[in-house]
Amino acid sequence: MLKLDFHPTGKHFLQIPGPSPVPDRILRAMSLPTIDHRGPEFGVLGTKVLTGMQAIFKTRHPVIIYPASGTGAWEAAMCNTLSPGDAVLMYETGHFAALWVKLAKRLGVVPEVVGWSGADDLMPHAPGWGRGVDADLIEQRLRQDPEHRIKAVCVVHNETSTGVTSDIAAVRKAMDAARHPALLIVDTISGIASIDYRHDEWRVDVSIGSSQKGLMLPPGISFNAISPRALEAMKSARLPCSFWAWDEMLEFNRDGYFPFTPSTNILYGLAEAIDMLQEEGLDKVFLRHDRWAAGVRAAVAAWGLSTQCVDPRYPSPVLTGVVTPVGLDADALRRLIYERFDLSLGTGLGKLKGRMFRLGHLGDSNDLTLLAALAGCEMGFQLSGVKLAASGVVAAMAYFAAHAAPAVVRKAA
Ligand SMILES: *Cc1c(COP(=O)(O)O)cnc(C)c1O
Repeated sequence: MLKLDFHPTGKHFLQIPGPSPVPDRILRAMSLPTIDHRGPEFGVLGTKVLTGMQAIFKTRHPVIIYPASGTGAWEAAMCNTLSPGDAVLMYETGHFAALWVKLAKRLGVVPEVVGWSGADDLMPHAPGWGRGVDADLIEQRLRQDPEHRIKAVCVVHNETSTGVTSDIAAVRKAMDAARHPALLIVDTISGIASIDYRHDEWRVDVSIGSSQKGLMLPPGISFNAISPRALEAMKSARLPCSFWAWDEMLEFNRDGYFPFTPSTNILYGLAEAIDMLQEEGLDKVFLRHDRWAAGVRAAVAAWGLSTQCVDPRYPSPVLTGVVTPVGLDADALRRLIYERFDLSLGTGLGKLKGRMFRLGHLGDSNDLTLLAALAGCEMGFQLSGVKLAASGVVAAMAYFAAHAAPAVVRKAA
């Protein structure tokens, strides 16, 4: 039985790829009293977070904030731009891409799913779940659509079920090469604020984000960054859309307000997160995640195990999928590690259940928390009778020691 009054000493190691550990500074910011969301101060907060998120998405165009998890922002991206029966081209990179396809079907659009069609030695039952988007496949398919029946191309930037990051600039290039006018809709729920992302430069039409991953916030708010073309598409879109409707939101957002009650306290946290990201500088934030990921991959290689990502061009900076040895149930291993060491690891999702676990390296982490998390994994493997090739902890220590992090100028508290 799970006991809700279970409070072990020290900090819990929440090493799942979202929700990520929330820094104390953000928790403190969120503990301020809730204010009147129609009162004079709220407009200042609203304006700060709305413009701050434009900088995070690298866009001059509007960003919308919903009091909802990422799934809500997925729905919003579609219901604001599409009509019943519209064809959309979606790319299956893993479980989250597959869930998005399911959502699209329920909304009444008609997804055509493309993806890796070769064999997969690592996970024969889940081909392509370990690879990034092949932009050539998208280009080929769009070239076969001279009547432009496909209204949108939907791709996941960072596939959180596998630990693979796709090249969104390449997708945009492929769409340009095919001279196809479909909208480009990108789920960067686990990429935004951890991995380089450029809404305007890549001419993404709707970018979808969420609070509980790279933004280091608790779950509860999510985002749509919107291009002028997406706003144009909104005018003729006929999917039912009320709570998610951009037009009313944008009207209220002009002065920093919302048409309904926003998540005031999470927005305090968002304002703090934006400050933290800007003080550090986004480029350093991205390098920090790259470096953590490289250290964790050094550990997995030393163990003699495989990562779920099989394409060396696209390992995710925010999480690493670790394939467990055949015969070892990854969820049994995760349970053992949780019970013995108070360390939470991400489960294998969908077709990957039991075959791998996911180690998040995002949010309030540093070299030493990651080394501790790797130590928890290593002890778990040993207790499960796995003969590891070598110590992953030692390998990660060597990596972190040999690769100094870029210096960060810290503001005095
Ligand atoms: C977490 C996640 C989602 C789902 O978001 P929720 O906040 O759980 O609704 C969708 N896509 C990706 C890539 C994710 O990482």
